[in-house]
Amino acid sequence: KLDYAEKIARMFGANLSERTVHAVDQVDLTVNRGEVVGLVGESGCGKSTLGRMMAGIMPTSDGEVRWKGKSLSALTGADKRQARLAAQMIFQDPMSTLNPRKRVIDLIGEAPRVHGLVPDGNVRDYVAKLAERVGLDPSYLDRYPHQFSGGQRQRIGIARALAVKPELIVCDESVAALDVSIQAQILNLFMDLKKEFGLTYLFISHDLSVVKHICDRVVVMYLGRVVETGTPDELFSSPKHPYTQALIRELPSITDRRRDFTPIRGEIPSPLNPPSGCHFHPRCPFAIERCQRERPLLEPAGNGQMSACHLKDLLGSAGASKLAQSA
Ligand code: SF4
Ligand code: MG
Repeated sequence: KLDYAEKIARMFGANLSERTVHAVDQVDLTVNRGEVVGLVGESGCGKSTLGRMMAGIMPTSDGEVRWKGKSLSALTGADKRQARLAAQMIFQDPMSTLNPRKRVIDLIGEAPRVHGLVPDGNVRDYVAKLAERVGLDPSYLDRYPHQFSGGQRQRIGIARALAVKPELIVCDESVAALDVSIQAQILNLFMDLKKEFGLTYLFISHDLSVVKHICDRVVVMYLGRVVETGTPDELFSSPKHPYTQALIRELPSITDRRRDFTPIRGEIPSPLNPPSGCHFHPRCPFAIERCQRERPLLEPAGNGQMSACHLKDLLGSAGASKLAQSA
């Protein structure tokens, strides 16, 4: 997305050489073993970039990703390979990540064979078991991706990720393209697999209603920054940050989950030129003068929540309605 934004900006003559684009800006995110962490926000907020960094498939320009306490960039040889396999990503559209010329047996079986996780002679058996586990008919192993439905293709993607025995799975909008009934099936599958294989998930979604039911902790991002964190219960019963409040307020009106949504008044500003101070100030109903000047830090905001807002102590749900009335 940023590449695209950059291209457009250059077309219009913007000089980007002196400007750094902070797709992810001073974010500090820990995912603990066994946790399901939801990462939510509108399109372009940096959640996919952060997910790719966490999965080790995108380098950080400044900062580091630590895997079990060790910096990813410091790992070499077998350690590096192991860390790389231990974090897998599952994307929104399996069609774009599954090679159309490969059969299911190879799509799923290649990586574990190449990395010596399963002996050559046992690959078919190994893949058949995995296929069965994710709800694919193991007699279809010689078919190609286009011969499957969207939901089945996502199951192929899941089996492919599982095949290398990962510990962390980063799901980037992994159910966003699916019909609601299929979404529920795939989410249930994710949760069953978590128990069975002791998995940890970073679950990226623009859809709060998806993360609500599966996550232990939710991290809300806006324009490259984390604006609020808390458990789903905390966030839904008393969102502290005005952006989270808006996301939740708008939730019932989201009927088409396939599209990223823009629930809040005003456009999402460009990450190339984010607003000063609190990035949310042009769209925030509570903004005060200080918000344009000063970046709010992510700080404890009651319950177990953290919020990055100058008015966090005033803006509990009750405080917010009081402020709204007096406005
Ligand atoms: Fe709104 Fe100011 Fe809080 Fe930002 S810091 S969310 S602009 S009240
Ligand atoms: Mg994305």
